[in-house]
Amino acid sequence: VPALEIHELRKIYATGVEALKGVSLSVQPGDFFALLGPNGAGKSTLIGIVSSLVNASSGSVKVFGVDIDANREAAMRLLGLVPQEVNFNFFEKPFDILCNYAGFYGIPRAEAKLRAEQELRRAQLWDKAHTMARTLSGGMKRRLMIARAMMTRPRLLILDEPTAGVDIEIRRGMWRVLKEVNAAGTTVILTTHYLEEAESLCRNLAIIDGGRIIENGPMKTLLAKL
Ligand code: ADP
Ligand code: ADP
Repeated sequence: VPALEIHELRKIYATGVEALKGVSLSVQPGDFFALLGPNGAGKSTLIGIVSSLVNASSGSVKVFGVDIDANREAAMRLLGLVPQEVNFNFFEKPFDILCNYAGFYGIPRAEAKLRAEQELRRAQLWDKAHTMARTLSGGMKRRLMIARAMMTRPRLLILDEPTAGVDIEIRRGMWRVLKEVNAAGTTVILTTHYLEEAESLCRNLAIIDGGRIIENGPMKTLLAKL
């Protein structure tokens, strides 16, 4: 089954804005997939619906075959979300931030500690495990957001413009972590408005504009067209 299957998704906000005008999309397990589009294209709306933060007007979404309306909790257990803005407590330490997050999801303390070490190492933050989060650099904070989302071992990791507004060095640090996450078997979907980001990371992509998918396919095929 696909990691993500979206069928004829529509969203009309209360303001009357039609943010999604019938979007269909399928992402295969193990893929690194980009949803590329300009500001206002509907990317955040789509991610919001998939992660159950926004209600669709119509259409369906399945995560590894689980319909998010019929079985929301089961679908959400398969999914990890990295929000755009850094939102952990700056007065806690990375190790504790990860363990407490895991605790919130019912993961036993001993298991949480094992995972926290693994994720901090993967994010190149192990040497900062017991340092106040406030003192981390911008890049480190962003990588900690990825590490935290991975604590529940999601099969599908979704990132909404993970590198919006950060400089190229920080972006490269995040790309490296995401490549490792994907290489270890997690399906990754990110939204971006940087073609360069999609190009250096993703095997497949969809281009969204004005609430519609205007291109969809392997990165290489689409690059040849541009
Ligand atoms: P993107 O993430 O690609 O920038 P969005 O999904 O944020 O696009 O926005 C798509 C359209 O929906 C835009 O016209 C935006 O102004 C509108 N929109 C987004 N969120 C809301 C909201 N909460 N209420 C009303 N309109 C919204
Ligand atoms: P910034 O200080 O600008 O936020 P980063 O934190 O992203 O930058 O780190 C800058 C560079 O140093 C990146 O290439 C990053 O991968 C590398 N780096 C940062 N922390 C570590 C670490 N603990 N181990 C190995 N490399 C690291």
